[in-house]
Amino acid sequence: MSQPAPLTPQTAAASAAEAGPDWNALRADFPILHQQVHNRPLLYLDNAATTQKPRAVIQALQRYYERDNANVHRGIHELSNRATAAFESARARAARFLNARSPEEIVFTRGTTEGINLVAATWGAQNVKAGDIILLTEMEHHSNLVPWQLLAARTGARLRHLPVTGDAGLLDLSHLDEWLGSGVKLLALTHISNSLGTINPVAEICARARKAGVTTLVDAAQSAGHRPVDVQEIGCDFLALSGHKMCGPTGIGVLYGRQELLETLPPYQGGGEMILSVEYHTSTWKHAPHRFEAGTPDISGAVGLAAAMDYLDAIGRTHIARHDQELGAYAYARLAEFKEGIRLFGPRIGRAGLVSFLLRGVHAHDVVTVADQWGVALRGGHHCTQPLMRKLGVESTARASFYFYNTPAEIDRLVEVLREIQKFFGL
Ligand code: PMP
Repeated sequence: MSQPAPLTPQTAAASAAEAGPDWNALRADFPILHQQVHNRPLLYLDNAATTQKPRAVIQALQRYYERDNANVHRGIHELSNRATAAFESARARAARFLNARSPEEIVFTRGTTEGINLVAATWGAQNVKAGDIILLTEMEHHSNLVPWQLLAARTGARLRHLPVTGDAGLLDLSHLDEWLGSGVKLLALTHISNSLGTINPVAEICARARKAGVTTLVDAAQSAGHRPVDVQEIGCDFLALSGHKMCGPTGIGVLYGRQELLETLPPYQGGGEMILSVEYHTSTWKHAPHRFEAGTPDISGAVGLAAAMDYLDAIGRTHIARHDQELGAYAYARLAEFKEGIRLFGPRIGRAGLVSFLLRGVHAHDVVTVADQWGVALRGGHHCTQPLMRKLGVESTARASFYFYNTPAEIDRLVEVLREIQKFFGL
């Protein structure tokens, strides 16, 4: 009798694409998941902070450094040509991943934070003046608040924030059109809230902004690795993502910008790689996107990110999105069993795969510290959304955030550990 083929990262991902994903089998692709922490099996539920890396991505980095490593765009020797080809083909891969119209719309950055800062610094310098309004929301991550505060301080622009409807965590869009029509230059909002798990209707919101002549930026840090993200379907002008939140390496991200818009913008940073020619007193710039990529880029990061995109697409982002929402709904329902013993944040239905909560009578940091002793990696704190926490009347929450390699059985274990924590604190 013939033996079944051994499970490798490649076969696991390929079989997922054919027969619908076997989520348990995919766990074999992630070496880090198979370890003990404090003498218990690791239960990694901090995926909104960063995701783990499949062997395919780790191997792509290793292959690049073992075979192709050189600096890009400058050399004419074989290794430099290979490194340049790998870097530029990663750009094309990212364009396909986001359904951008061309690779020229893809700027490599360090991550979402740098992407947003780049837009605030370049587009902001050119388009924002005193009295203009930048429209944000009350659920934004600090990285989509602080760059605009810096821009407002430089230009005299004002900031407004679309309200969030309390613990249910939805955006109140009832005054959106009215607000968009009163001096708003740019609307920047998150696709998925990292604190609440809310999935915002970004395509509808961007369409309303476009109608009002308002430029849009979508923070896709929490969505790009969790669901199909199509910039043409969303209809945004800019979109920023982080590779490390979608199976890729840290230190690499993508800023998508509509080509006509990118081409009008001044450089972000100055240095090598981004120039056409330099005199002692003046310089001229390359076209977008190279104009925005001063200095030696994160070449291996881009290679690793392209491998992550291949990996996610081999599984299928529609499958991942469904699984993500199922995990989010299951976790919400299981945690709701604590009744008065828990406060849950964010929408009850249609949520992303993360749950923020407070166990009554236990500080979020204590929940996370004791959970760690049980091998469970959670996060406690303000999740870089301090103004939202203040609005909700809390200092912090505990957060369990899932990825496709998490299972309902792991959520059951989380619930057991939370029961232990209640016992530990005499509740
Ligand atoms: N926006 C959101 C919604 C996030 O969750 C994060 C990361 N927690 C960021 C932006 C910033 O991402 P990075 O730190 O990778 O730049």
